[in-house]
Amino acid sequence: MPFSSIAGQDRITALLRRSLEAGRIAHAYLFEGIDAGCLKETALALVQAVFCGATDGCGECDACRRVQGLNHPDLHLLQSDGVFIKVDQVRELQRELSLRPYQARKKACIIEDADRMNPASGNAFLKTLEEPPGDAMLILLTTHGEGILPTIRSRCQILRFPPLSADTVASLLRENGADEEQARMAAALAGGSLSRAREIAGADRLQMRRTLLERTSRLSCREIFTLLETAEDYARDRETATDAVDMLKLFWRDILLFRAGSGEIANLDLQPLVKELSERMSTEQILEKLERIAVTGQALTRNVNPRLALEVLFMDLEASGQV
Ligand SMILES: [Zn+2]
Repeated sequence: MPFSSIAGQDRITALLRRSLEAGRIAHAYLFEGIDAGCLKETALALVQAVFCGATDGCGECDACRRVQGLNHPDLHLLQSDGVFIKVDQVRELQRELSLRPYQARKKACIIEDADRMNPASGNAFLKTLEEPPGDAMLILLTTHGEGILPTIRSRCQILRFPPLSADTVASLLRENGADEEQARMAAALAGGSLSRAREIAGADRLQMRRTLLERTSRLSCREIFTLLETAEDYARDRETATDAVDMLKLFWRDILLFRAGSGEIANLDLQPLVKELSERMSTEQILEKLERIAVTGQALTRNVNPRLALEVLFMDLEASGQV
């Protein structure tokens, strides 16, 4: 994938192209942003350009095709093994990087979720940065920049990928065939990440959101079994639970906005429900719900049981179900 097909990050891709033209490629980059997919695409475009020799990777030569197919012998992808990138993985990488490149001028390594290093692997990696074996190029990717050791950060050239505006995301989705309403809604829900917007624009997810919001708006502690069952349905795994909490956050933000007189809501198709709830509660009550949702979202990033977390949250939200 060449730089020219990376959507919405023109400033970053222009900067990388200029560095390539001037022959000033750093030996370590840290790409930081909210869209992991876009970070990886950009890293691959950079490796492709370096291996190919053309500033925007020709896309046709053997090097370009192998990078695109993720099977170039001089390109190493490092992903966490479980929760963490382990020290053995870093040592294996050091060994690989110390070998001479097979085909390219240098070796390249893309480290996904670079914030997932534990102290041991972080320190081992720091050594790789301090004394890079051979002429390797390292590209660290992270959506949680605060999790990167400061000593690692300071040895990388940092590129921050800004979130895209909802308008940009919507127009990119329309270019890819989404209809007007689908594009607007997915853009509003995606928080500036094109990859996420593309996921959301898939029909299944839009339907899951609608069902979740309708079900949770009708919950009542007087029908405790229905409430517990609903929690169970959305607590299959941490990812689904987090997804549900994100959707609830936007929905209640809509309710708050609507109460304040704004029509700029994300869940356009559920406007009647948003209106109904906004009329039934005070601003303070809505803020309280938003606070509960935020607390649950934070708890889910830690080791809390997703089902328990959702049960408690749904009980807190249930006031909205008292008709
Ligand atoms: Zn090429």
